Amino acid sequence: MNIILFGPPGAGKGTQAELMINHFSLAHLSTGNMFRSAIQNKTPLGVKVKSILDSGELVSDEVVVDLVQEETAKDIYRKGCVFDGFPRTVGQAQSFDEMLAKKNTSVDALISLVVPEEELIKRILSRGQGRSDDTREGIINRLSVYQNETEPVLNYYEKQGLVKVIDGIGAVDSVFDRIKKIL
Ligand code: ADP
Repeated sequence: MNIILFGPPGAGKGTQAELMINHFSLAHLSTGNMFRSAIQNKTPLGVKVKSILDSGELVSDEVVVDLVQEETAKDIYRKGCVFDGFPRTVGQAQSFDEMLAKKNTSVDALISLVVPEEELIKRILSRGQGRSDDTREGIINRLSVYQNETEPVLNYYEKQGLVKVIDGIGAVDSVFDRIKKIL
């Protein structure tokens, strides 16, 4: 089962991904976490993407797709995976579909977590994880990048009939109950 967990920054993708991987025994791939860990470890990739993450812009499709391709070649991804923060552009979605088709698999569902913008800003500012992109300016830029570049991905998967819309407001467990019901 390959599930895309989709939604704006602050929608709760990371939190719900953790619950999903435990409940459904799936692997978890978060491109954001992979980039942050590369930055922390000062790898060549980390050095390359640090200023991009700080600004809230997107890492290039080529870099992201290569990273995901390399990572998903590992055995742990064979039973299926929750993709969190990927694909984030229509170009990434197209490459992703091709990547999966070569392995005779495909996307099974896209879960779209819906949360209003004021709530997103409030959540990110209060989560206090010390992320260098979690400033008010950083968040506002990420939200606009989301609207311009990422939201069209919904339409792309809508055409394949894979989009499941979930209300992302409420307690963590209530949101997860909604996800379990539709999967
Ligand atoms: P958030 O959902 O809060 O924006 P993420 O951890 O998903 O956080 O991503 C953090 C940053 O990592 C993004 O702002 C972007 O710079 C980079 N990034 C993560 N995933 C991708 C992706 N699929 N394509 C391009 N850039 C990405």
